[in-house]
Amino acid sequence: MPLPVPAACSLQLVDDLVAERQSGKNKLFFNGIAAEWRRRVQTYLDERGSPATVPTWPLIGPDKKKFLNLYASPADGTAQKNVLAALRDHTLTICPACGEAGRPNTLDHYLPKDVYPHFCVTPHNLFPMCDACQIEKGSKTGDVADPRFFLHPYYDIFIGQQVLGLSIHAPYV
Ligand SMILES: [Zn+2]
Repeated sequence: MPLPVPAACSLQLVDDLVAERQSGKNKLFFNGIAAEWRRRVQTYLDERGSPATVPTWPLIGPDKKKFLNLYASPADGTAQKNVLAALRDHTLTICPACGEAGRPNTLDHYLPKDVYPHFCVTPHNLFPMCDACQIEKGSKTGDVADPRFFLHPYYDIFIGQQVLGLSIHAPYV
């Protein structure tokens, strides 16, 4: 099902994260990649998160953990903690991916953080999902032939009208 696009600005978050790191040990790293990171987030927004056209960033491989740590254990009051808290503060009563009843209690990375660590706290890449869907989806991204094997709740077009009907009549053999 479609979800409203997050209120938080994904580009602003990059600026805020880099600014917050000016007094930390990773200052030089984040200053060095800030412009490229911002450009890649813009590409994500322009390409609507499509794995077919949003490239991975192989050069950051050795520094992957510097990104993943942003998601894993953010301190209170940090830019990404506030963004993640807002995404978790939803009123959904069904999973947007499968429609199963119950509050979806995890956040899924549409482009998985293992493959795209630089989008691990990008709000437009995160949405609520149930545990079963997340296990099923895992780190799959689709491929060129089937880039949208999982619909993106912020970008993909969902059919809002019934297109098929089925009537069953006797005799039931
Ligand atoms: Zn689900």
